[in-house]
Amino acid sequence: MFGDCHIHMILDGIYYRAAIDAQKDHPDDQLIRARLAAYRDAGITFLRDGGDAWGVGSYAARIAGEYGIDYRTPVFPIYKRGHYGSFIGCGFDTMREYADLVQQAAERGADFIKIMISGLMDFDCYGRITGDPLTESEIREMIRIAHDSGFCVMAHANGADVVKAAVNAGVDSVEHGAYLDDRAIDDLAHSDCTWVPTLVTIGNLISCGRYPDSVLQPLLAFQQANVRKCASLGGCIALGSDNGAYRVLHAQGTLDEYGYLRAALGDACDAVLRRGEDAIREKFKRG
Ligand SMILES: [Zn+2]
Repeated sequence: MFGDCHIHMILDGIYYRAAIDAQKDHPDDQLIRARLAAYRDAGITFLRDGGDAWGVGSYAARIAGEYGIDYRTPVFPIYKRGHYGSFIGCGFDTMREYADLVQQAAERGADFIKIMISGLMDFDCYGRITGDPLTESEIREMIRIAHDSGFCVMAHANGADVVKAAVNAGVDSVEHGAYLDDRAIDDLAHSDCTWVPTLVTIGNLISCGRYPDSVLQPLLAFQQANVRKCASLGGCIALGSDNGAYRVLHAQGTLDEYGYLRAALGDACDAVLRRGEDAIREKFKRG
């Protein structure tokens, strides 16, 4: 089985606020161990967490070895105040504050830096992304500061312009990557960046009744077509489920994501994903 290059140990796939409230005061050892055991039992031995402000992911990283799991953490994700990310990350206003957060992540044992540079797909409205993205110069500066501190950068990024800006600034992985145009796919495919498309966050919502299938179905098809396009250009793509997101359950979500990627990539799937995971495993570690 493949590893999962994008999970959220703190979240439960049901309701993020309750999941966070349950571990706000301290990581829940039993709950985290049950989740790690589920991954181990599914044959998933590599996990890259998106981080959280309460130390849940980094606690999991400390005990994951007991389950034979290689677990990578950014400690916490970093967002710019007034933009997406406040529910789970640590915020900054100025680049000086951002650099301080990178330093704090380093001191707390981060394997890489996770940044949020755009909003979310709006599942009620095809083509729409929530919130305002960061500017090209902010994105460039954030990636530079993290690289100068010796870290690879995982970027939550939706929208063609944001992804182009991040890729051209040397970002190491793009998460989600909704609504890319051909230029963004071309830039991505011809860079050292790995794309983690998290198709299951769309696919597992279909028929659930919360969002219109008339948005979800074409969105999933569009994303799958882009994954196919990127792979055909030689791009690096990895399996990451966003496990913990709504209707994306720990361990099961990884298997679900594999199904959506397999549907997009056909027989080429395993070779493409192997190469993507190798790149993530190689780069997203300390030192
Ligand atoms: Zn995520």
